[in-house]
Amino acid sequence: MISSQTVTDVCNAIDPERLVQTAVDLIAIPSPTRSATRVADFLAKLLQDEGFAVERPVAGWSESPAVAARFASGTDGKTLQFNGHLDTVHLPFVPPRTEDGLLYGSGASDMKGGVAAMVEALRVLRETEALTAGSILLTAHDLHERPWGDGSQVNELIASGFVGDAVLLPEYLSDRLPLVGRGQASLQVEVTREGVPVHEVLGGIDQPSVIMAGAELICRLRELDTELSQLTHPLAGRESVFVGQVHAGEMFNQSPTKLELSGTRRWLPSTTMDAAREPLLQIFEEVAQTHQVQVNGQVAVSRDAYEIAQNDPLVAAFQGAHEAATGHELPVGSKPFVDDGNAFVRLGGIPAITHGPAATGAHTINEQVPVEELVRVATVYALTAISYCNS
Ligand SMILES: [Zn+2]
Repeated sequence: MISSQTVTDVCNAIDPERLVQTAVDLIAIPSPTRSATRVADFLAKLLQDEGFAVERPVAGWSESPAVAARFASGTDGKTLQFNGHLDTVHLPFVPPRTEDGLLYGSGASDMKGGVAAMVEALRVLRETEALTAGSILLTAHDLHERPWGDGSQVNELIASGFVGDAVLLPEYLSDRLPLVGRGQASLQVEVTREGVPVHEVLGGIDQPSVIMAGAELICRLRELDTELSQLTHPLAGRESVFVGQVHAGEMFNQSPTKLELSGTRRWLPSTTMDAAREPLLQIFEEVAQTHQVQVNGQVAVSRDAYEIAQNDPLVAAFQGAHEAATGHELPVGSKPFVDDGNAFVRLGGIPAITHGPAATGAHTINEQVPVEELVRVATVYALTAISYCNS
């Protein structure tokens, strides 16, 4: 339990103008994935100038070393980590702007607004002296957004020990407490035949057909999806294989040499990555044999599936903080997307909760986030830390 006096102190200490200014400063420095150097340098200097202990772990990406800042209460206790990514998707740059209580610009929703909120939480924990035990580790990094990044910088941060006992990640999810997240891999399949494109009546009709092979491939994937739909989780729904794109052929009476197909495979924590991949590879091989074509199928794992225990101390601390900040707990649920939280749980064994502002327009040029949501996230983060680090 957090005392009502502490809640009041934290709420009073949060400075919305300072929080928004930090967000505006971060957004104003363009940082498409693989180019987060300048914004990381800015954040490191800002935290250092404010008196926090800052390190710059390279974490496998010397182009843009990560930022790690620590604040310790001085008394033994747990470490709560706040982790965010500083890179944004590769879309035209939108400069920061606030209007009618909304913050706009590249990364406002995903996730520089959230990073500014976690910086504000860090400041408030120091100013109020409300963190009576344990410490905070704030980390920020590049290489999050796919397909330009591969998540390797946060993987390296985890591998090199830049982790707390639990972690909060301010992605734009605010209506549930995600206890479970499905794993996800992208499918990239190329079906090819020997030779060159040829007119249907000049031998084309006698060639192995990449289109017929593709058609069978799609049917087989649908059958697999029907099987996978039997694998369910009460919070996370079902496993799936999904085809989102298929392309072949140049014109109506020519035999083509290539078909391309792409989609996703999503799986539950009870399935291993290898088990998720294996039936796909088998289908590729069988279709190749039947149709005398080559099937080159890549199943590229983004993140593995994970689940955290409902009785984990992080969950109780978070729910108490959320109730203190908003008057209610969040319903438990699943995370619809994959994010770095999957990596903290699966690679580091560290409980992770993704929770951020109710923001819109992620991965578009219309990102916007209510300032009051950023204030709410900063409050929830600070209160969760006070409760968790002491537990
Ligand atoms: Zn994000």
